[in-house]
Amino acid sequence: MKQKIVVLLILILVSVSVIAAGEEIGSGEDFLILVNRDHPVAEGYVPADLVLLEDVIPEGLCTYEHEGIMGNREAALAWVSLLTAAHADGLDEWRFSEGYRTIADQQDLFDRTVQDYMDRVGMPEDFAIEVTMDTVAPAGTSEHHTGLAFDITVPGEYFGDTGQYLWMKEHCWEYGFILRYTEEWEDETGYMEEEWHYRYVGVENAMKIKELDTCLEQYLFWWIEE
Ligand SMILES: [Zn+2]
Repeated sequence: MKQKIVVLLILILVSVSVIAAGEEIGSGEDFLILVNRDHPVAEGYVPADLVLLEDVIPEGLCTYEHEGIMGNREAALAWVSLLTAAHADGLDEWRFSEGYRTIADQQDLFDRTVQDYMDRVGMPEDFAIEVTMDTVAPAGTSEHHTGLAFDITVPGEYFGDTGQYLWMKEHCWEYGFILRYTEEWEDETGYMEEEWHYRYVGVENAMKIKELDTCLEQYLFWWIEE
């Protein structure tokens, strides 16, 4: 009950400040596309303004797990600011493992994961599919299709155990990124916690999502679809 009152108070405070700021919520709207199990992207969807991260992010700020990792241009520029700040704070090891993914790539990943469960653990196919559904988005339902989602790692370490993760948890919002899949919101997002997965929504939205301590689904429900 007490928690509900606090949440309500925060909502009221934030809405007052938004109105005072001249209803700026729409300014980041292009970056609020919702892609999840219930909201697949349209078939043939290809996001606008994709760039190769290595063309935008100066060498030395990060490495790449494989060649050709792409993302939205504005998001890539936001990574430049974020990674520059993180380096200044003494965290210099960052590796991108995923950015934009095509729908065909997604289907491959899904099929390979199912096959892997069947081969390695001897799971029956229907069970392997069920387990895969917990961690891999079926084709069309991955945020990676938008060019706004990125997986970042530290080579040789579990990202959730790194200083980089603690830094991201505190600062990613300031650069327009949100920690998209947290334990707290598993039921809403449909995904288990992923400490390495960051979604670009623009600074204004990210800061509000942090302030509200919510997830993208709830944020859109409360703020955008009114
Ligand atoms: Zn991801």
